[in-house]
Amino acid sequence: MLPEEIDAVCNLPQRFHSIQIFQWIAQGCSSFEGMTNLPLKVRERLTDEYTPCDTVCETVLKDPDGTVKLGIGLHDGSSIETVLLFDKASRRTACVSCQAGCPMGCTFCQTGQLGCLRNLSPNEIVEQFLHLEKICGKLDNIVFMGMGEPLLNLDSIAKTIAVLTHPKGRNLSHRRITLSTSGICKGIYELADSKLDIRLAVSLTTADEDLRTTLMPVTKANPLSELKKAIRYFNDKTDKRVTLELALLKDVNTSYKAAQQVRAFAEGLNAHINLIPWNPVQQLPYNTPSDSEIRSFYNYLTAENLNVTVRQKRGRTIGGACGQLGKKGRTEPKYSGTKQI
Ligand code: SAH
Ligand code: SF4
Repeated sequence: MLPEEIDAVCNLPQRFHSIQIFQWIAQGCSSFEGMTNLPLKVRERLTDEYTPCDTVCETVLKDPDGTVKLGIGLHDGSSIETVLLFDKASRRTACVSCQAGCPMGCTFCQTGQLGCLRNLSPNEIVEQFLHLEKICGKLDNIVFMGMGEPLLNLDSIAKTIAVLTHPKGRNLSHRRITLSTSGICKGIYELADSKLDIRLAVSLTTADEDLRTTLMPVTKANPLSELKKAIRYFNDKTDKRVTLELALLKDVNTSYKAAQQVRAFAEGLNAHINLIPWNPVQQLPYNTPSDSEIRSFYNYLTAENLNVTVRQKRGRTIGGACGQLGKKGRTEPKYSGTKQI
């Protein structure tokens, strides 16, 4: 909740108490007892009636490369995962989930194998960021690239952004927020027309229409010609460059012809290309390309004057790399209780 909503719901004796509560939560305080600048009576009543944190961090896994993955339990027994990423410049990024599972069914992704249990509420997204900061210290960026398709839950994401960028709270900069979509055109137009002012990444994977339809069923309702129009609209409306992400599958989408198709797709767009060598997922029929296959594909693209980077392989030992999030299974509800703010 934003301060004005806390004020409206909690019936506080003084308006500024809602700002104090908002600030405490943004700093990671997870009990009203700990909010020491509130009057004792108010703290006691709030403790009886509400909980400032609705989710529980159940597991913390650390990869030797610095990546950290949290397993977070939700009140209905479903669980989600959140990852802390480091880049070459040691910037620290929270990669958060927006759905428990994902309905998009991309054939190369672990999360896609789960199906979608449900959309996450704004507090379930905000709390992923707060749990990570509590365990790992202050973060620089947030990316909506964890479990799920963000453009199917844009309302929760808009509210998450309003909370995390609020100047009285965490005050995160809009420039430090990125959303990655599998390519839902309607959502890209909505995002472009919104005031969210964030960066966009699109999981292109391949610009071969037939192959993309097999790998990413989203292509059926969102053909590449329409996707390109939507990305161009985003470019023009926001004046922002878009990242095209390509998960690279050995011998599937890394040929010279595939590079030519990507070049043709990127023509006329303000785009940067990010290659993501496939991260292994058990029981999926793909392989990671060799370093020389990746290098050749990279060279094909850069020879066409495209701006290309290769994402470092990180977090694989803890199943925390792109496309590895989400384990099967669901536990009984554990956390119930009082109204949450
Ligand atoms: N649902 C959103 C964001 C989460 S997936 C989306 O699809 O864009 C984040 C990125 O990981 C996407 O670019 C996706 O194509 C990629 N990805 C999925 N499975 C992968 C895997 N096993 N290895 C490497 N990248 C993968
Ligand atoms: Fe969902 Fe993204 Fe995985 Fe596709 S790649 S199944 S959209 S999480």
